[in-house]
Amino acid sequence: MTLLDINNVSVRHGQLRAVQDFSLRVEAGEKVAVIGANGAGKSTLLRAIAGILPVSAGRISLDGEDITELTPYRRVALGIAMVPEGRRLFRSLTIEENLLTGAYRKRPGSWNLEAVYELFPWMGERRKLGATQLSGGEQQAVAIGRALMSNPRILLIDELSLGLSPAIVKRIYSVVPRVIESGCAVLFVEQDVSQALSVADHALCLLEGRTMLAGPAGELELPAVEAAYFGAV
Ligand code: ATP
Repeated sequence: MTLLDINNVSVRHGQLRAVQDFSLRVEAGEKVAVIGANGAGKSTLLRAIAGILPVSAGRISLDGEDITELTPYRRVALGIAMVPEGRRLFRSLTIEENLLTGAYRKRPGSWNLEAVYELFPWMGERRKLGATQLSGGEQQAVAIGRALMSNPRILLIDELSLGLSPAIVKRIYSVVPRVIESGCAVLFVEQDVSQALSVADHALCLLEGRTMLAGPAGELELPAVEAAYFGAV
């Protein structure tokens, strides 16, 4: 059965339809990239899936269960975890305390502090360090670890690479296979088209809240994706 089924969803910011009649299916173990320029509606889409924003039309189901009206809290319990844009760590807490906030509403599964420290060994060694003492890339890794602590079935990642160097971005993306191995799907927003296509199984390009192009990442041609990105198709 499809893990996440988004069916004709629209999301408004007042008069603006930021996401329009959007449909997508994500299967268990899949990596799906959402590509698009600034303002295309990518964050709005992820926030609607997490339940932070209400939809104005359509339906979202997880494993066949309609979650459209559920609170973000209930959705975490069912297996939707989000790594928000800008990481949003708790500034007054240590690395370990930040990770533990992710386990507040936890499903059974293999992710715990030990498993996260195995994924990012430096994190365990510096577990007592305050979140503000970390670099941007380290904060991003902690935000991913925190989301994994709830044992999600699907991990939503918003703009992982924002403000980070390509080498750091590559290092952080290198943990995705391990996340997939744990039985979790990944739906991620990425502005860097080649980065997105190199990580994802499937990719789609959003423009003004609508899907302009979608398909298996290996079959999407860079020029076509870039044209969709800029609205030239
Ligand atoms: P970015 O990469 O800049 O975050 P995005 O693709 O994630 O872009 P969204 O942030 O989802 O795009 O924004 C989609 C549209 O909705 C934009 O036109 C944006 O200006 C508008 N928008 C986003 N958040 C709000 C809000 N809270 N109130 C009003 N309009 C908003």
